[in-house]
Amino acid sequence: MGAPVSAERHVIMGTAGHVDHGKTALVRLLTGIDTDRLKEEQERGISIELGFAHLDLPSGLRVGVVDVPGHERFVKHMLAGAGGIDFVLLVVAADEGVMPQTVEHLQIVEMLGVERGLVALTKVDLVEPEMRELAALDVREILSGTPFAEWPLHPVSALTGEGKAELARAIEELAIAVEARTGAGPMRLPIDRVFVMEGFGTVVTGTLWQGTAREGDQVTVLPGARPARVRQVQVHGRKVQAAAAGQRVALALHGLDKNEIARGDWVTTPGAFREASILDVRLRAVGPGERTIAQRERVRFHLGASEAFGRVTFFGRDELEPGEDDVAQLRLETPVVAARGDRFVIRRYSPVRTAGGGQVIEAATQKRRRSDVAAAQALTALERGSAAERIAAALAGRPAVGLTVEEIAARTGTAGAEVESALAELVARGEAAELGRARYVSAAYREEIRTEIETAARDYQGRYPLRHGIQRGELRSRFAGRLKPEAVDAAIEPLVAGGVLHPREDRLRLGSPVLALPPRLRAVADRLREILLEAGYSVPSSRDALARAGAPAGPEAQELLVYLAGEGEIVRLADDLLYTREQLVRLENEVTAVLRAKGELTVADFKTITGVSRKYAVPLLEYLDGRGLTRRSGDNRVPGRLLAAGAGGGSGGAPASGTSGAGGGPATSC
Ligand code: GDP
Ligand code: MG
Repeated sequence: MGAPVSAERHVIMGTAGHVDHGKTALVRLLTGIDTDRLKEEQERGISIELGFAHLDLPSGLRVGVVDVPGHERFVKHMLAGAGGIDFVLLVVAADEGVMPQTVEHLQIVEMLGVERGLVALTKVDLVEPEMRELAALDVREILSGTPFAEWPLHPVSALTGEGKAELARAIEELAIAVEARTGAGPMRLPIDRVFVMEGFGTVVTGTLWQGTAREGDQVTVLPGARPARVRQVQVHGRKVQAAAAGQRVALALHGLDKNEIARGDWVTTPGAFREASILDVRLRAVGPGERTIAQRERVRFHLGASEAFGRVTFFGRDELEPGEDDVAQLRLETPVVAARGDRFVIRRYSPVRTAGGGQVIEAATQKRRRSDVAAAQALTALERGSAAERIAAALAGRPAVGLTVEEIAARTGTAGAEVESALAELVARGEAAELGRARYVSAAYREEIRTEIETAARDYQGRYPLRHGIQRGELRSRFAGRLKPEAVDAAIEPLVAGGVLHPREDRLRLGSPVLALPPRLRAVADRLREILLEAGYSVPSSRDALARAGAPAGPEAQELLVYLAGEGEIVRLADDLLYTREQLVRLENEVTAVLRAKGELTVADFKTITGVSRKYAVPLLEYLDGRGLTRRSGDNRVPGRLLAAGAGGGSGGAPASGTSGAGGGPATSC
């Protein structure tokens, strides 16, 4: 119970065989569990699990049993659980011998890469000894040309119990030989069932392909990137803190309704996996004695518990002969979740029969043309390639935020430590680059982004020569849909650090860090300054001032004002009044002096300082309020937060001693 999950051994046996050959009866004999009753029982709870039973062996080892139905829709059911099968119990009835689905199930098992197994020659109570022998020979013959030639065969009867002990021993032997899985790395669970359970909400079940599922985990359901939280984990109907790769699990998910999830979806560690409609694969056609797989043939693709329609593209060949294998591309009509090394099966569109299967070389790649003979070589290289080559291929895409080590590991089927050392090698060779903290892209893409940023900055400065530079937000929006904002920021960072872009507030300037006005406009600016200074606080309207200063008409004058404001040379107040910085600094000093002396500023005081009419007084006072220098109090102004904070500092005595005239001035209005 409290034992670390990785220390336990999780073994799953799957049945296979023609319909009515006695698979379910045999599971019942071995485990005491009737998997056929499951449909009625599913409403009662996950303790009865799916049509999944468990077999407690004399050694204390518990083997999960996946009993598959033998009818036409068998493949979907079998594949739903078969990804996690460690070995197969092939059931052949002695009275019928090898039948079509006996063969097809074996083909599927082979395509899924399951190598271990054993044969139960069942219903032996029904036949004479010679028939038994004939059936056994029949089985031996179909196994002979396959990786399963050495599977042991055990005669058994579910009716009389004959052979049960021997069969159980043989199962135990296989179970003990299964290598323990680690449970390390990101988690991936193919969902084979979804239902609602009173008190738990949405529950999904499946055989955990990789990683560990823990109570409280944040997860992503793919395709569609739907977030959820694991509310509870159950194994064999019992609540556990965590379940590891190889176990049959039920997860109660918080955050998703039953109708938002379907069989074929995946529960995954957020960010670790992605959906793909284009897969580069190694494909093998079943055979001999079957049809070829044709170029562009429409097929049913099965991976985990998912099924998708799609077409096969071969490179430089028109078909795949029975028993042959080659690299190929699968283009699916709906996305699946796939990673390098995943096993899959394809079946014909019609009539529905297993056509082949294989392994994913790379998921979510670009389309390759059938005439692209080089693609075949590239794929073969990728398939056999070093970790660095596989990672370089994974980075060849254009990820919106770059890939983390964990994501690269999951996509390339490479251990995390190996990814790290291979990445270091790629970075050193200038083939990969970091895009922000611990996120990687190809060096070429990194360069492309850099160039695009520089070009955008240059264009912007060309269009708006009087602005400091392009706004960060504009750069982000230029990459919208391609790069996430944080990735754009990450790409900008080294350009700033390297002195290529010079930041100022939210703008970034390419080239020289300071923007000087061209002489013609410098002269206008200087004249403007003189005009404003001469006017005292009763400045002319901005339009008049600009006209008198000889500013060019139209947008350029506005650009000039934006520039001068940006440089702090002038300040634009509401009502578009322009003041030089000196004027406002002087005003601030004089107002501060009065406030320090009297503790407040009357309208009359203000008029004495500025000599302005109401038209100017209002925006100027609002400016002072906005600066935090003053604060309105009735008709008067009192020290604002800026002064209040300063007054508390040390000069506190001065205003206090000078407040004799507080409230004394006549409250005349301007
Ligand atoms: P499945 O489709 O492979 O799961 O087959 P079932 O386990 O449902 O069995 C099909 C039929 O064969 C049922 O009527 C069983 O009672 C019968 N059956 C299964 N095993 C044996 C056996 O060992 N001896 C006899 N006489 N009948 C059996
Ligand atoms: Mg059955």
